[in-house]
Amino acid sequence: MIEKIEEYASIYGIPIMQKDGISYLCNFIREHNIKRILEIGSAIGYSAIMMASVDDDISVTTIERDVDRYNKAKENISLFNYDNRINIILGDAMDINIDMKFDLIFIDASKGHNIDFFNRYKVNLDDGGYIITDNLSFHGLVENPSLAKTKNQRGIVRKISNYITFLDSNSEFETKYINVGDKISISRRKYE
Ligand code: SAH
Ligand code: MG
Repeated sequence: MIEKIEEYASIYGIPIMQKDGISYLCNFIREHNIKRILEIGSAIGYSAIMMASVDDDISVTTIERDVDRYNKAKENISLFNYDNRINIILGDAMDINIDMKFDLIFIDASKGHNIDFFNRYKVNLDDGGYIITDNLSFHGLVENPSLAKTKNQRGIVRKISNYITFLDSNSEFETKYINVGDKISISRRKYE
């Protein structure tokens, strides 16, 4: 059944996580006994469903601003019978207020707003929790900016580089980078 979602994403060009990236993330969730997850950027629900399927007592809150993707995600979540464990919210993550605490915040939305998402949602991170961000390589262009051909690509590369600088110089969080999928970062509060 999950293959159907992967196929749909590939046909319609929806940037769901790559296989090695999602499987790393699911292992991380299992190994760190993560139960409450906040995701920024649901798309069609693929990563939310994969994360929820790690264990029966995991709950996911996920935010998507595109109404068509939101509707497709809802449909997929229902197909998996995860309506009671995955709460999908339609809206812009920069406008939404959530007062719950989470063990993991997974940022996988517009690459230019990672710093804003990080700062907005870090208050929702419970003690010992992690903030994981996807797409820090942008297909290798962040490591090799001269390969960025269009103005749009150069803009995205600059924004991702700024985010990496933000993480590396953050006095509150320490961050490591894992080369899976399109490269992810894992950030954790330094002093607790
Ligand atoms: N996590 C998904 C893929 C997400 S793709 C998976 O791996 O299955 C990124 C999604 O983030 C897109 O669907 C886009 O519409 C959404 N998005 C981008 N900026 C957003 C914002 N500010 N608020 C909510 N959703 C956003
Ligand atoms: Mg991604």
